[in-house]
Formats: sequence, C-alpha cells, structure tokens
Amino acid sequence: MGLLYLGTPLPWNEAKKYADHVRTHGITQFLHIWDRLKDRTGDELLWGDEVEYMVVAFDDQERSAKLSLRQTEILTKLSDIVHDISADCPTKYVTRSTTLILLTDNFSVAVPTFHPEYGRYMLESTPGSPYTGYIRDLLSVECNMRYRRALARTHLKPNEIPLTFTSFPHLGVQGHFTEPYFNPNDAVSSHSFFLPEEITNPHARFPTLTANIRSRRGSKVAINLPIFFDEKTPRPFIDPTIPWDRNIYKEDSDAKNGAALPNHIYLDAMGFGMGCCCLQLTFQACNVSDARRLYDGLIPIGPILLALTGASPIWRGYLADVDCRWNVIAGSVDDRTEEERGLKVIPKSRYDSVDLYISNDGFNRPEYNDNYLPYDESIYDRLRAHGIDDLLSKHMSHLFIRDPLVVFSETINQDDTSSSDHFENIQSTNWQTLRFKPPPPNSPIGWRVEFRSMEVQITDFENAAFAVFVVLLSRAILSFNLNFYIPISKVDENMATAQRRDAAAKAKFHFRKDVYPPGRSGTSSVASSSGACSPTDGSLRKKDKKMRNCFPRSTLPEDGFIPHPPVKEEYEEMSMDEVINGKGDNFPGLLRLIYAYIDTLDIEPRELTKIESYLDLIRRRANGSLITPATWIRNFVRLHPDYKHDSVVSQEINYDLLLAIDEM
Ligand code: ADP
Ligand code: MG
Ligand code: MG
Ligand code: MG
Repeated sequence: MGLLYLGTPLPWNEAKKYADHVRTHGITQFLHIWDRLKDRTGDELLWGDEVEYMVVAFDDQERSAKLSLRQTEILTKLSDIVHDISADCPTKYVTRSTTLILLTDNFSVAVPTFHPEYGRYMLESTPGSPYTGYIRDLLSVECNMRYRRALARTHLKPNEIPLTFTSFPHLGVQGHFTEPYFNPNDAVSSHSFFLPEEITNPHARFPTLTANIRSRRGSKVAINLPIFFDEKTPRPFIDPTIPWDRNIYKEDSDAKNGAALPNHIYLDAMGFGMGCCCLQLTFQACNVSDARRLYDGLIPIGPILLALTGASPIWRGYLADVDCRWNVIAGSVDDRTEEERGLKVIPKSRYDSVDLYISNDGFNRPEYNDNYLPYDESIYDRLRAHGIDDLLSKHMSHLFIRDPLVVFSETINQDDTSSSDHFENIQSTNWQTLRFKPPPPNSPIGWRVEFRSMEVQITDFENAAFAVFVVLLSRAILSFNLNFYIPISKVDENMATAQRRDAAAKAKFHFRKDVYPPGRSGTSSVASSSGACSPTDGSLRKKDKKMRNCFPRSTLPEDGFIPHPPVKEEYEEMSMDEVINGKGDNFPGLLRLIYAYIDTLDIEPRELTKIESYLDLIRRRANGSLITPATWIRNFVRLHPDYKHDSVVSQEINYDLLLAIDEM
C-alpha cells in the first residue's frame, strides 16, 4: 500500500470531477522525475521483501479460529517499541503449543517496519532497511523474516498468532469469523452479503476505495470461483449460505439475477481479494533501461511462481477448484463500468497481469506485445512530445486510462516539481504482476522493479527460499542477458493455467526454448558470457564478492546477425519441472541458470550450502517431490475426520488446519 494521507476523501460523484486533473498533474509529476533522473546510472543492488500476515485469534474451548480485528492497536504498539531497538536473530521461536525452533545463525537485524494493509486483521512487514548485494544480506532474509514474525508475535494476545496464510478459509462464512463479531448487514462501503464493514482498515482511504470502486462500476464486484466437486458435493451446487432474499442494499437482487453462478463460490466484496496475503520483492536497478530489462525478464516468471507458490484453495468455507488468489483480487477491485467490461473496451481489471513489455533492447520484438492495449492518446502524445520513447509512453498512457479512486480534498493542488502524489495515485492503483517504479522525488532511491505475483508461504524458510530464488534469477537475467520473451498473450494464458488446481504438478506452461543471447547456446557458455569470470575478450576476471547491479549490455554476435525465427517457433509447452529443472540438453531450466550465475560469485562453502538448501526447496517443489501449500491444505481438509466429502470446510476443520499451520 502506498502512503496513507490524513484528509477528507471525496465520494465518487465528487472524486470523478478531478480525474483529468489528477491524470494531467500526475503525468507532469512523472515528467519532472524523468527529466531529473532519466540519465541516473550506477545504482547498486538494493532490494527488499514485503511479507503480509493475518492475525488469527484461537479459541480452544470453542475450537474456533477467527480473524482478530485489532490491527490499529497492534500497529500502534509495534511502532512504539520499534524506534530504537536492534536485535540479533531470535534463537528461540515460540508457537502457541510452545514448540521451540532453534536457529543456528546469528545475524544482526535492523529494526523492521510494520505497515497497515486493507484488512483490519492484516499486518505487512518489511526489513528495516533494504538488503544490499552482499551474500550475507541474501542469507539474512530468513532470519529477518523470523525476527519480524517474533516481534509481531510478542505484541499480540496469547491466543493471537500472525500467520503467513494467503486466504483465510472462513472469510465471509455465515456466523462468527471475526473477533469481535460484526454483522455483515452493516457493510455500507461494499454492500457485501458476507463481509461486515469492520473487516476493512478504518483509515478513510480503504472504505472510500471500496465504495468508489462499487460506485464507479455501477454494481457490487462479483467473483465466481469454480467449486471443487468432491464425492458428495451436490450437483448442481447452489450455495445455500447466500442470503438470496436479503433486501437491504440495491445490489442485493444481483445474486438472484445472475451475478452468483451455479457450481461456483460467489464472492462479492473487495475484502475477499485485498484481504489476501502475499509475498512481494522490490529491486533497485542500475539505471532506467536495466529496470525495463529486468521488468520484461520477470514478466514470464510471474505465472510460473504464482503456480509454484499456490496456497489458497479454500474460499468462504468451500474447497475451490483453484489453488491461487490472483483472479479473486483482480475481480475484487474491478471498477470497470459494464460498458468498459464489454467488447474489449478495457480488457482487464486494474489488478491484473502486465500488458506490455517495455524494454528498448533488441530482444524485445514488436511481435511479443500482442495484447490489445487501450491507452490514453493525449497522454501518449504528450509523453512522446517530451521525448519519451514509444514503449514507455505506451506503458504510462496505458496505466493512465484508469480514474483515480481516492481523491483527498486537501491535496488536490500540489507542487508538481516536488510531489508525486497524483502520479502515485494512478500508478499504485494499477496492481499488476510487475510494477515499474520510478524514483520518488527528493529521495536517494533509484529506478525499481517490484515482483508481485507470489502467494505468501506458511514458513519463513519457504518465503526466504522464494526471495533468494528471485534475487538470484534477477542477477542471472541481467548478467547473462537472458531472453525470456514469449508473446505476452501467452503469459496471460499461463496466468490462467497457473491458478488451476494442481497446476504446479500437472499443467503445461508456454516458455521460451532458447533463452541465451544470440550467438550463444548451452549452459556452459552462459557462465562464460557473464563478463564476470571469463568474458569474451579472454581475460580471466576475479569472481565477484558481491552481487553486482550494473552489467554490460548484450553485444551483437560478430557477424552482426540476429536470427529471427517465427515467434511461434521460439516457445513451447513445458511442465513446471522442465521450466525450473530443465529439459534434457535443450533447455537448461531456471535453476541451472542460477547456478551458472552463482559460479561467478566468490562464496564461502558454508554460504553455498545455505543457498543450496533454498534452491533445493524450489527444485523439489517443481519436480513434485514437495507439494505446494495449496495441495497440502486441500489434502488436510479431505483427510480430516470431520470432512463430509461435500466441499464444505467446517469451523472445526478450519481450527485444526490453522492450528497445524501455526505449529509448522
Ligand atoms: P509498496 O507497498 O509500495 O510496494 P513498501 O514500502 O511496502 O512498498 O516495500 C518496498 C520494499 O522495497 C521494502 O522491502 C524495502 O525494504 C525495499 N526498498 C527500500 N528501498 C529500496 C531501494 N532503494 N531499492 C530497492 N528496494 C528498496
Ligand atoms: Mg502489501
Ligand atoms: Mg508495501
Ligand atoms: Mg508492494
């Protein structure tokens, strides 16, 4: 979430009058940043993670697990104690059942930061300061995550636990799923059947966002997830827990009139999506063109890691036939009007996968950008007239087709040379798989890329493993000039595939066959193309002690010829195992590329062992020897003695599941 302003947010009828004002000044603000920082280069690798938690209150008498709505109090406590302390990685970690986990490493941890999130039961944490390119920083991530969890834990009640769990299984289930209880009939912002107003962070921004999305759209949001048909699930499945005949809000008849589909789990509020927890990573790039290169390189990785981290198979008390949160969030903030949703006017929600590759290097063939891309022509013309190239102008003018959803009356007029609020208003409410982040004005921060598709994992070890994997992959992409381009429409197909049940084990994904820069092939040559150990000029370089950020750009092969086979021949369907672990001699797999990069680093054996333990988790999850959290959760439910094989996840199962997760 971006910064939270104190002020008076305008209702949609008022806010929409300022849409052009915010867009125009937002672009002016971007242009000021561009003029000042477009040539900035040489920034070191700085990176950081964001981990989201849901605070769950257990009642052992009642055998229930509910969402604790004490975010505001908890964050106040955390910010009170967090000023000045610095601590070693905790050596003891206490769960509710007082299991002790001993940590062997002893890192010093900077005081982390905790942030509010959409749900009033959520916390977000980030490291106290970004990590650098040193390997010891890479290896401190797990400890840092553990420390943050332990810190949050010490400021909760004894029966409350911060869980890194993607979707709360009983969110929106009839009866009590929050602590304390609130009646959903009071949901004045969302008009939801299921989620009370109090589920939402009370800061004015969040209820306003919720209400303005509904108002702009002209109806409640509507998400329909296919139900997982088990042996005794009724066919057709018509959800008896939907209050079909409620008559409080004008949208209450929508469900009966077709918004709620048979054989599906119907979700009708922003909280179902924005109330999910995820794991995000942000990288500072050497300069703007490397940020664009990295952004493009990670686009095809988005759906791969969504599938591999899949952790959300239960929605509103039912087992679903999907493993991931993505489409739920996309639908939960879909503010497009009925007209915009029809006939390809605006094909996607403002929360969706990336629509455009933006790098200006020779690898990015125009054929790859094959999605229909609505963009604001006058903004595009303005950016072009300012000297910005076609792709970046298209990227920005595509983001800027959206209206600002929350406008504060106090901050309508800003100094565009020193503020980026209007720019960020639009930028930060385009929630895509990747985010290209320009430097904020008046800060030391450079051009960044944020990787946003992953689901949060249950343990800190797993979250650290995925963080380490993406950091190393980002280095491999830049140092070896890897080429992962496939048509962006195929990336979208992969996004849909990634969410299907068991996608990590069973699905096939489009992936590029030859990922090496022109003129090279085979993993052996990758290591030698890095410029880090044995560059093409033949001189042997020392290995790097620190992960670099600035790498030489790809050079053309000696004869200057880049072969361009038809795009269709450049990619094929691969299993998760093949994408990650390779496919015979033809395709190395992402892990082998990472190992070739690690080979360019000067790493101690002890450090290498630790890195290997993380990469091994990725390897095993991809080859199916370790199941995804989604599969584990689904199996837990289906093997629970209380489960009736009817897709229903009872209060008892919910309690036992979350207890088991805490103990993990
Ligand atoms: P948002 O919610 O807008 O995505 P946050 O501030 O919550 O952003 O998280 C940003 C992440 O970026 C944090 O992990 C932080 O440590 C990291 N970070 C901070 N400064 C830099 C930087 N200069 N380069 C890269 N990452 C950074
Ligand atoms: Mg967040
Ligand atoms: Mg954040
Ligand atoms: Mg973020």
